[in-house]
Amino acid sequence: MTIASINPATNQTIQEFAPLTKDDVITAISVADTAYQDWRRKSFADRKRCLLRFAELLRADADEYARTITLDMGKRISESQYEIEYCAKIAEFYAHGAERFLADQPMEVEGVDAYLHYEPLGVVMGVMPWNFPFYQVVRFATPNIMAGNTVLVKHASNVPQCAKTIEELFSRCGLLRGVYTNLFIPSEFVERIVSDARVQGISLTGSEPAGAAVAALAGKNLKRSVLELGGNDPFIVLEDADLDEVIPQAVKGRMVNAGQSCVASKRFIVVESVADRFLTGFKEQLSELKMGDPMDEATTLAPLSSEEAAVKLQKQVQASIDAGATVLLGGDRPDRDGAYFNPTLLTDVTPDMPTFDQELFGPVATVYVVKDEAAAIELANQSSYGLGGSVFTADVQRGRRVAEQIETGMVFVNQPTRSQAELPFGGIKNSGYGRELSHLGILEFVNKKLIHLG
Ligand code: NAP
Repeated sequence: MTIASINPATNQTIQEFAPLTKDDVITAISVADTAYQDWRRKSFADRKRCLLRFAELLRADADEYARTITLDMGKRISESQYEIEYCAKIAEFYAHGAERFLADQPMEVEGVDAYLHYEPLGVVMGVMPWNFPFYQVVRFATPNIMAGNTVLVKHASNVPQCAKTIEELFSRCGLLRGVYTNLFIPSEFVERIVSDARVQGISLTGSEPAGAAVAALAGKNLKRSVLELGGNDPFIVLEDADLDEVIPQAVKGRMVNAGQSCVASKRFIVVESVADRFLTGFKEQLSELKMGDPMDEATTLAPLSSEEAAVKLQKQVQASIDAGATVLLGGDRPDRDGAYFNPTLLTDVTPDMPTFDQELFGPVATVYVVKDEAAAIELANQSSYGLGGSVFTADVQRGRRVAEQIETGMVFVNQPTRSQAELPFGGIKNSGYGRELSHLGILEFVNKKLIHLG
């Protein structure tokens, strides 16, 4: 296994990192467990001071960290800058909110004097993906650190510069050694960690196969787990929606992070009376995207995260085309160095095609034309995934009614799915279980202890 930073805009290797040995990992667990014994006793005010400092450090050198993200995985520089600022906000949200979220909760039961008391659990493992390499880690680590847990993080092997930088930031913000530890390890080492009695749980953000593997390990070892997996989010356009507003949102929803977001809009389900107008406008705006160097502010379409990702996407798109899908735009890769993929628009994708229920992780939009609202809901729910989704209509009450019938963990009316520190994030079905962000995110790895006073 290689842990290497390879610039996807050029496919040039920047730096390789040596993996830890199994003995190093055992030592890291011991250090994290020792740190837990101290960290759990720190006051919320002490923990808060560290996370507020972490947010300050992020902001102080935001441009440098943004460049690190873009070099590791190819995201447009303005998106990387946004990600750093968002991480600072998440850290502040948990720094300020944790004490309130974890305050004792009286049980309102007649004749009983009892309350819920929240306590940390111990060392928690995080396995993280490359697509939002700072955000995913911060979303997992900051609520756990505020709750009094200590964390071990195995980041994706293609974003080691980000992994190293995040660890340095956590060490500079005043955390005890072992509260946050980055592990440069292959995924096979995760089993050894999860089976260690000192490790209390595991949170994985990543693909469905990785989620299934980690859930099996957690089950075998009776450990708590949170899984944030892939998505195939529907973007429903009803006949009363204002297409002038919807089409730019469709481009934004699909093309965030060059299409590599779990909650990117992936299946555009459009009622037939507005389908021609939607397709014409969507195709026009997709073709205007400017592919280029992600460090250049003028670029609106960046490369994918790696050459392998681009090759995988090409295979998936070709499988759809071979099975009868119509290509309205793109469908292939441009003739240039780097992991680029042309903006692509597919129609006539049917449930019998192999890619119908697969996540297409890149700038590929699939448009489905349906008769009416009921057919749109039915198709939206015809997916093994259940992460996010959106519905566009001039009537918010109608949007609400449709949203309540969509089988996902999140539905947004008149905007693509997005993440915000104060709002819960997570899915159902094969998109995983558990919630991150909001007050719910800090309750995943704590002991909700009942204390009964008689
Ligand atoms: P991935 O290949 O599943 O990798 C994610 C992480 O899991 C990496 O650190 C990877 O390590 C590790 N991993 C892979 N197989 C493993 C195994 N058998 N046991 C333990 N760890 C394992 O996913 P990705 O390609 O990085 O990320 C893209 C996927 O993540 C997409 O499906 C996307 O939708 C999903 N995602 C979901 C959310 C959400 O919040 N729901 C957010 C972002 C992304 P290596 O890199 O060393 O292989």
